[in-house]
Amino acid sequence: MYATAAALIAPSLTTSLRKPSSSSSTVSAPFARLISNNSLASSSSSSSSAAPPPSLIRNQPVFDAPTPIITPTVRGDMGSESYDEAIAALKKLLSEREDLAPVAAAKIDEITAQLQTLDTKPAFDAVKRIKTGFAKFKTEKYLTNPALYDELSKGQSPKFMVFACSDSRVCPSHVLDFQPGEAFVVRNVANIVPPFDKLKYAGVGSAVEYAVLHLKVEQIVVIGHSKCGGIKGLMTFPDEGPTSTDFIEDWVRVGLPAKSKVKAEHGSASIDDQCVSCEKEAVNVFLANLLTYPFVRNGLIHKTLPIKGAHYDFVNGTFELWGLDFCLSPPTSA
Ligand SMILES: [Zn+2]
Repeated sequence: MYATAAALIAPSLTTSLRKPSSSSSTVSAPFARLISNNSLASSSSSSSSAAPPPSLIRNQPVFDAPTPIITPTVRGDMGSESYDEAIAALKKLLSEREDLAPVAAAKIDEITAQLQTLDTKPAFDAVKRIKTGFAKFKTEKYLTNPALYDELSKGQSPKFMVFACSDSRVCPSHVLDFQPGEAFVVRNVANIVPPFDKLKYAGVGSAVEYAVLHLKVEQIVVIGHSKCGGIKGLMTFPDEGPTSTDFIEDWVRVGLPAKSKVKAEHGSASIDDQCVSCEKEAVNVFLANLLTYPFVRNGLIHKTLPIKGAHYDFVNGTFELWGLDFCLSPPTSA
């Protein structure tokens, strides 16, 4: 499947490289390199299509991801000649064999029904979508705000660190109108902040470390959201034991304390209502996990790094924000 998809998109990519269009100047050098890499990958895979895929590539859909669907484009002139010939032959046959008319009518009904369900939408062109998206951004934002982008070329000094879900509907820059340079963002399934763990969670840990110690962000906000698939998974997957997924079930188990609290307090509610409660309770668990990072804890104690929880509800168009409600007791001696 990998090789097939790569081979299918390879022609348009290599064409873009060989013969830049007039609008290609809006595509930056990194994008050109991306195209180049894809071309190389596709040529190598197509030249060895008979060989088995490398062991690290799973040649099958993962979890619930839909299998890519490639819909052929049907052109208006496609097969018109043979179509006319077929109709002429049918007319000739029916004029010679009138007894076949009822059979032909039934067959034509069948074919008509099939044609009505045929999906003739053109295939989604990802490269075109990316190019037009970047061109729009460059024209409407980049080129109209040179002062901002000149400033950003020197470095970044974001005031916010934000945790948000990877869900395509909840981009924090979109929802909160963050401008480039304003928020250092970590997005993952279910906006999870795992506890400090150098081995298991180095990705999130390095982001928190960089944001707090080097960028010196002034706020950390963890944003949950409505209809979160990760939280629904947390609420419905088994709490322990073997998993059917490579990553997802283990990952969302970071939120198990929230699930336990929701089950204890709202166990009789519908699963949908439990999920809504858990979307918010999980944020509180993740705020607590932030305190396992020493540099975050220090910032909170010294009141230089407020931490906030939030919940974005795109069903009702609301955004809740709350502060960290923890009592930090002074150390006691035995
Ligand atoms: Zn989510």
